[in-house]
Amino acid sequence: MENNLELGKKELNKLLFGNKNFVQGTPNAKNMCLETLKKFAFHQEPYAAVLSCSDSRVVPEIIFDCGIGELFVIRVAGIALGPNVTESIEYAVKKLKVPLLILLGHDDCGVMKYAKEHYPVMTDDFKSIMSAVYPVLDKKEDIKCHNFFAMEHTKWVEKTLIEKSKIVKTAVDNKELLIAKCHFDHSTGLVNLI
Ligand SMILES: [Zn+2]
Repeated sequence: MENNLELGKKELNKLLFGNKNFVQGTPNAKNMCLETLKKFAFHQEPYAAVLSCSDSRVVPEIIFDCGIGELFVIRVAGIALGPNVTESIEYAVKKLKVPLLILLGHDDCGVMKYAKEHYPVMTDDFKSIMSAVYPVLDKKEDIKCHNFFAMEHTKWVEKTLIEKSKIVKTAVDNKELLIAKCHFDHSTGLVNLI
């Protein structure tokens, strides 16, 4: 019998295949109609959770070629990890039992650029977001490229999520959850594993 880790890998491959459809201009998503919504009127069965940036160019359902009811998406600027974000992920893991969590950073992220511009000053604006991205700069202050910074941040999000969330740690330890760190490349449209 398939365990959840194998299921998570299968779902990840499906989404990466969907991303190729998007890149090639041959999207295939079928679950985009009212009929699908009616089918899921009183329940949902997403097979993956995606933590994505709020950036208008990073739209998980489109870049993974998905429809209604497939992805449980948490979008926050800079995929900045805070209590509400962590609990949203925990809901997907504990209640919806998703076998896959994708952490999706991306090129040209405004949050990374802002952080690099202002570090180490805690600005009056965007405090909770800056406090979620500055830890990477605390360790590697000399990061030049903000795309590299975004990838390092995605790794930090995974590490911190496992440290801070008992639900996520337990699911990972029990092989019930696969976490995939990904980066979206604007010039190609490709989602790459990091
Ligand atoms: Zn962004």
